[in-house]
Order: sequence, then structure tokens, then C-alpha cells
Amino acid sequence: MTPPPLPLDPASIKGFLDPDEGAALYDAAMARAPFGPCLEIGAYCGKSALYLGAACKAAGGVLFSVDHHRGSDENQPGWEWHDASLWDAGAGSLDTLPVFRRTLRAAHLEETVIALVGRSAIIARHWATPLSLLFIDGGHTMEAALADYHGWTPHLMAGGVLAIHDVFPDPADGGRPPFEIFQLALASGLFETACEVKSLRLLRRL
Ligand code: SAH
Ligand code: MG
Repeated sequence: MTPPPLPLDPASIKGFLDPDEGAALYDAAMARAPFGPCLEIGAYCGKSALYLGAACKAAGGVLFSVDHHRGSDENQPGWEWHDASLWDAGAGSLDTLPVFRRTLRAAHLEETVIALVGRSAIIARHWATPLSLLFIDGGHTMEAALADYHGWTPHLMAGGVLAIHDVFPDPADGGRPPFEIFQLALASGLFETACEVKSLRLLRRL
């Protein structure tokens, strides 16, 4: 896949997105952003926001980026994906917001990407704007994944793209909740599969 034109080298940003997955997100956001805002759940240090935001900017759209910035379970001390440099000793917790903001500034995306700092399910409860693209890459517990699916997919407009990250059909490759909500989406009859890139799945809202 051809790498999209980005204002920053994505390899310089901490995160969990493969370049081919990023390119697929870029293309999807480029096509969808003219129809309404895009929204991602799971900002971390801004890697996916770089791809999605650069596309939104080029298309004249915006990206809302939801994260409480306290990290997922697997980012906590003692877990596999913990990064001690993201620890805020004063708060006694992880804090990825300063790094996320630095990424947006360096990428000239502060006028395109809007950070929504809070728990996804609470923000979803108060959301009302139809979305052109929804990228689910937040908490990977079953509770978080289900809350993201049920809380946010009703806001996706017809023709909108639902993107889900970390979908692993084989449990040996990774946790199941993103796969489970992907299955729910397929079984709902509301979506058709659009494309598949590594652990990323793109579906189109009928
Ligand atoms: N998209 C990012 C990776 C996101 S990692 C990238 O491209 O690198 C998952 C993120 O989801 C973490 O930053 C964590 O803080 C956030 N998160 C987990 N559960 C959440 C919840 N319930 N509400 C909001 N954010 C959540
Ligand atoms: Mg992910």
C-alpha cells in the first residue's frame, strides 16, 4: 500500500498502528470526511489521529478524538504494553494527553483534530451529531468494546464507515473483544464488509 502524504513520520509516534492499517484509515477518512465529522475512540499518543487527521484536513473535515488518556488495562504498570515514560507521578496514573497534544502541534493538526478527554461511554451518551466515519480502538475489555459498539455505532450515518482495530479471529493472536464486536456488526445486518488490512476491519453502514 502506498504511504499517504503525512506531515510527520508516523514511526516517530508511539502507538499501535501498522503503516498499512494507517494508510487504509487515511483513504477511508479522505473519502468520508466531506460528509460529516470523523470520530476515533483511542487516541493514545496520536498515531491514528495523524493518519485520520491528515486526511480530514486535506478533505476539509474534522476528527474528534476520544480518550480519557489514562491508558487501557494493558498499558498499566506491570502489564505488557506499559511505557514508564508516560507515567504522571503527580497524578499517580498514566497521562498520554501531553504527548497527544505535542503530536497534533507538530503535525499542524490543532485546527482539525479535537480532543475529547473523558470516558468513551459517557461522551457517547451525550453525543448527537451524525458521523461519517467511526474508528473503534479504545479499551479492549469486553465491557469497553461493547460500550463503544453500542454507544457509538447508532451515530454513524448511512454510507458511513465503521473501522475496528485489533480484530483477531485466532485467539492466539490477541484478545477477543474487538473480534466480538466485529461479529456483532456483521450479524446486525446493518453493515457490509468493505475491506480488511491486517487487524483492521472496515465496514460500511447500509
Ligand atoms: N489509536 C491509538 C491507540 C489507542 S490505545 C494509536 O493509533 O496508537 C487505546 C487507548 O484507549 C488508550 O490510550 C486508552 O487510554 C484509551 N481508552 C481505553 N478505554 C477507554 C475508555 N473507556 N474511554 C476512553 N478511552 C479509553
Ligand atoms: Mg489498537
